Amino acid sequence: MTAGETTAPEILRAENVTIMFGGFTALSNINVSFPEGRLTAIIGPNGAGKSTLFNVLSGAFPPSTGEIFFKGKEITGVPQHAFARMGIAKSFQITNIFPKITALENVRIAIQAMTCRFNIWTPRSKFKEMEDEAATLLEMVGLHQHHHRLASNLAHGEQRALEIALALACNPCLLLLDEPTAGMSPEETSTMMDLITDLASTRTVILVEHKMKLVMGISNHLIVLHHGEFLAEGTPDDIRSNDEVKRVYLGQGAH
Ligand code: ADP
Ligand code: MG
Repeated sequence: MTAGETTAPEILRAENVTIMFGGFTALSNINVSFPEGRLTAIIGPNGAGKSTLFNVLSGAFPPSTGEIFFKGKEITGVPQHAFARMGIAKSFQITNIFPKITALENVRIAIQAMTCRFNIWTPRSKFKEMEDEAATLLEMVGLHQHHHRLASNLAHGEQRALEIALALACNPCLLLLDEPTAGMSPEETSTMMDLITDLASTRTVILVEHKMKLVMGISNHLIVLHHGEFLAEGTPDDIRSNDEVKRVYLGQGAH
């Protein structure tokens, strides 16, 4: 917490988190806290450990040592599906949509999986209800004109937006995104950043990104990692003027 930031209740916290891959330490004793209702960006050059921290925070794997807390309750090692039920959703750097079905069907299936409201006795009306919810989510991510296109036929930026719609199917209070603009054109990137800003107005967002400039304008708070270690945190102004951060970024040629 630095001057200019107001206190908000904490939603997620990593305490003394270390990750070892064999003998290699990918994250070393990380202590970070994420306030509710804020957009926090985790930044750092390639290989800094951002995706590794993302995976731990989103429950993809437990830390080698250390703990994760959600709303003050320890959730270290809780199975992945339980994270979604708690309201923690994520969109990975890798695409996880079903390519051979439509955008609408992709989202409808995600809603179905979340709600467990569907079995062979389920009336047709429930099916329609889920389809309407799916249409609302597609509209939220700007895909309202693409309901009936096969996911594989969507442009790259549209596929990433669809992934976010899938993540929103559990109506998360906390959304984690790992490099959502990876591989996007400048136009797609700008559309995605607008969408993230929009989503962050009604929920907590944790955004992993190596392009510092991209997140400066939209983040409330930034956490900087380097070589698996915590380097700095603060407001965009704090980070912009931090000499160590500048050195790390200039050294890597990543801005
Ligand atoms: P970032 O997302 O910041 O680019 P990562 O978290 O993906 O960085 O990786 C951090 C370091 O950990 C890198 O050196 C990477 O090679 C290593 N690493 C990541 N995942 C694994 C893994 N499953 N096994 C071994 N090493 C890994
Ligand atoms: Mg990464």
